[in-house]
Amino acid sequence: MYAEMRECAGCALSKTRTNVVCGVGNEKSDIVFVGEAPGHYEDKQGEPFVGAAGKLLTELLSGIGMKREDVYIANVLKCRPPGNRSPMPEEIESCRPYLERQLELIKPRVICTLGNFALQAITGKKMYITKARGTVIEAGGYSIFPLYHPAAALHRGDMRKPLEEDFVKLKEFLERAPMPEAGIAPGIKTSPEQLSFW
Ligand code: URA
Repeated sequence: MYAEMRECAGCALSKTRTNVVCGVGNEKSDIVFVGEAPGHYEDKQGEPFVGAAGKLLTELLSGIGMKREDVYIANVLKCRPPGNRSPMPEEIESCRPYLERQLELIKPRVICTLGNFALQAITGKKMYITKARGTVIEAGGYSIFPLYHPAAALHRGDMRKPLEEDFVKLKEFLERAPMPEAGIAPGIKTSPEQLSFW
């Protein structure tokens, strides 16, 4: 799958990228983090979350006793949008099969979406992170845990504390959550709606 991804010419981003940024980490992990798209450093190095946002993600993981190697980290888009502009709908659709296959292979218990693009790509719904954070969405056999994007917290100082608090909630959720088919952990607010994207 990685070889196929690296040769992908499915959208125009293939013409401007330096590297395809497939994903990194433990493919046997119960937890997958999904960001938006590679930035400058990710494009240069071919690895997700290696720039400033990645440093913060690593710190947030370390704050709950986890290392990058304990989880798998990927993005909705595998190629950098020029100038770090937002992903376009056709780019998300073109790249979607890769993320779906990564999730099918890894079969995580929990998918942590970072920011609005990942939340919407994973749920298939126009949901917003400001409302969705603090909830766990059950969809397609996964528990989806929406988090602010670390890059947003770098720009908006007031998001840093809620993001740290949500990582603590994530730790608690991981300690208490049964496997998805067994239902949801008590005390965690879940979305009333069963999402149908998967
Ligand atoms: N932002 C993302 O969404 N992904 C990365 O890999 C880096 C920054």
